[in-house]
Formats: sequence, C-alpha cells, structure tokens
Amino acid sequence: MKPDAPRHPAPPDAEARRGVRPVICYPVDGLPQPDLAALARLRAQAATRTAVEVPPRDARCVEVPAGCFFRIVSVGGPQVGDLNLWNANDLTERFYSGKTRALHGTHLSAGDRMWSVFPHMRPMATITEDTLDWYGFDEDGGSVHDVIGTRCDPYTGTLLSGSDYHYCCHSNLTRALSEFTDLPLRKAEAHVHDVLNVFMCTGFTRDTHQYFMKASPVRPGDYLEFFAEIDLVVGLSACPGGDCGQEHTSDKAVCHPLLIEIFETPEALRENHVQPEPSHYDRSHGAA
Ligand SMILES: [Zn+2]
Repeated sequence: MKPDAPRHPAPPDAEARRGVRPVICYPVDGLPQPDLAALARLRAQAATRTAVEVPPRDARCVEVPAGCFFRIVSVGGPQVGDLNLWNANDLTERFYSGKTRALHGTHLSAGDRMWSVFPHMRPMATITEDTLDWYGFDEDGGSVHDVIGTRCDPYTGTLLSGSDYHYCCHSNLTRALSEFTDLPLRKAEAHVHDVLNVFMCTGFTRDTHQYFMKASPVRPGDYLEFFAEIDLVVGLSACPGGDCGQEHTSDKAVCHPLLIEIFETPEALRENHVQPEPSHYDRSHGAA
C-alpha cells in the first residue's frame, strides 16, 4: 500500500509546478482519418455472411476478410466482451491497446481505430457504429468500451485469492485461439493480448485513482460495429463477470452469450479497399 501522506515536503513553487498547462501527447489531427461516409456507403452494400454465438464464460475466433464488417451484438442480457484482433496472415501482428489508448483516449467509439503493435503500427479495424455512444462519461468518470483494462486472467486471480479459476477471458481466448489455429495451448497463449473491453463500463476512482467497473448499460440489441482494414482473426470472450457490476474471475455473476455477426461486402468493392500499409519507419534505431 502507498503511505497515506507524502514523505517529502512540497517545494515553495509546488503550486506553480502543478499549474502548468497539460499538453496532448499525441494530437490526432495528423492521423490519416477514416472516411466514415464512404464506409457507410460500403456498409449499405454488405450482406450478412455468418453469425457466431460466443457462449458465456467461453470465447470464439472467427476470420473477417479485409474490406468486410463485423458487429458484436448483445443478446439475452447485459454482458461484457473482451476483444482480441490478429492479422490473419501473421499472428504476431496484433492489437496494441496501450498505443490505441495513447492516440484515441481511454474509451473508444465510432471513428476510432484499433492499432497494431510495432513494427507494423497500422489500423487493423475502424469502429463504424456504437449504439452506446449516448452514454458519454458519467458522474463517476466511467464510460464504455475501454482500452485501460487488460483482460481478466487466472494469474491475477490466483495472486489475489489463491484459487485457480479457468474461465477468465485470458483462458477463454487462449482455448479459442488454440482450437482455431491448431496451435498447442501454450503457444496460443503467447498470442493473447490486452483487449478492447466491449460494452464494459469503467474508469478510475477520483479519490484513489483505481480502476473501477460498474454494471454495463448495454441491453440486448445494442452493438459495436467494425470495418476490417486488414484480414483479421477476431477473438471474443464473453467475460465471466457478466455485466461486470459485481465481480469477475468466478462463476458467481449472471452471464449471457454474445453474437459476432459478419457482413460481407461485394468482392468487386472489397478489391477497391486499400489496406493500410505497415509503418514506414526504417527500423535502424540509430544503430551504426
Ligand atoms: Zn473478462
């Protein structure tokens, strides 16, 4: 635990030092912007290809080709989902939650993009629709679809409670990826990464600045929709926390399934989609 009071006295100019103006670390004006109007026109041409149900306390992986759309839909009751993305042709290119947070902020919505890890660092998916965009930020500082959490996992659970629980999102995603790729469990586990917490309502407490969750405002029929910028493997876990209003890492919460719907755009239109190129940085890192 941190000590209750600072152990070092404030310098005479403490207020002045605290009072300097914050500067946005990464202004996004310079980012290539998605053409949401063009994506909406493309979406109007897309037809449902398939739908995959993700059972509660379990995960599924599906492939979504570049130029198609996919949607995560709430069915049955309020339920949070943990989302992983991989390049379907190279699993080492995966979603980078930390950099996405640095660029777009703590919670994502329509118009934001999901960026991949170094050295690729390109948009893997663009969020095109969010039926919970009305929620904004509540009085506790909470909002939905965060990139500040990690994913619930058995390691933290064992550390805090001393008992093993096997149906956390980390384990669910590990089993699903192993099944989807035929990789052994431990090799698949190495590809599982920090998530986009779909529908989850989270923030940091104002007094202790701790990560909090509260019951998700999602209701059946709500959805978050994405455009696949590159060929994707999409992994989604229906979190054992259910609506995450009480606890996770246990079988106590009421849980519901989630639906992944894939919308296929006509082949000819898909061919017109220009996939974002990997970063142009030369990767010499200043070495001689
Ligand atoms: Zn979870």
